[in-house]
Amino acid sequence: MRVLFLCLISFFSLYAKNLVSVSIAPQAYFVKQIAKDTLDVNIVIPPNANEHTFEFKPSGILKLEKSDIYFTANLEFEKIWILKLKDNLKNTQIISTQNGIKLMPLQEHAHDGHHHHGDDPHTWLDPVLVKTHAKNIALALIEQYPENKAFYEQNLKDFLKELDTLNLQIQALFEHSKGKYFLVYHPSWGYFAKRYHLNQIPVEIEGKEPKPKDLAKLAKLIQKEHIKAIFVPKGANNNTIKAMANNYGLQIIELDHLPSDYNNALLSDAKNIASMLQ
Ligand SMILES: [Zn+2]
Repeated sequence: MRVLFLCLISFFSLYAKNLVSVSIAPQAYFVKQIAKDTLDVNIVIPPNANEHTFEFKPSGILKLEKSDIYFTANLEFEKIWILKLKDNLKNTQIISTQNGIKLMPLQEHAHDGHHHHGDDPHTWLDPVLVKTHAKNIALALIEQYPENKAFYEQNLKDFLKELDTLNLQIQALFEHSKGKYFLVYHPSWGYFAKRYHLNQIPVEIEGKEPKPKDLAKLAKLIQKEHIKAIFVPKGANNNTIKAMANNYGLQIIELDHLPSDYNNALLSDAKNIASMLQ
């Protein structure tokens, strides 16, 4: 009996894959490009949740504890929970996939009063910066699982090439749009805008809806820059968005800023933005 039991245990451990965790869906895509099916990936933030106001649930602790590595993304909840979970995560390496990327302050449109600018974490929406995410991930995986070094190195090389191609495809879309403005509800497109020489006009201020005074300023900018659309996160549809669309005759267009099918989704987001700049 005992022998059978031991056999079963070794059978299951032979087939159980190592686990790593990531904060957001695009990071899971990046890990999968390099690890393929050598690993299981746990995504901490569920799809369509707000990555800034997300509240980590204690039920998520177990999967983090079982993870060899937790890849973070400079999000608000991480700072709070990593401290709280210090003792639980003794065997989990915590690595930011943004290591080496200089973060810019989160962009908010000009407004009076206090400024509480935090760092803008949305570097994953610039495919050139994603190359740094990918290299950080590969480095960490190779250190953790040296037996897969050659496989991971080759996969990294392939993925970097795909990101170069994606960057060229998006560049071509904005070739004649340099300096143009696009209106976004949530200011997640700052790095993307910088990369392709565009200007993002954010509606949200410090994660909150704008005040009437701020809306008046936005209205002027919308007219001056001939803005045709308001880009909103997937599933977002609040009164400010509806009112702005009505008052200024704007189309409401969803952009996926936490894409799980990264390359395809980013290209389609880029096409959506480009189509409104003509
Ligand atoms: Zn965001």
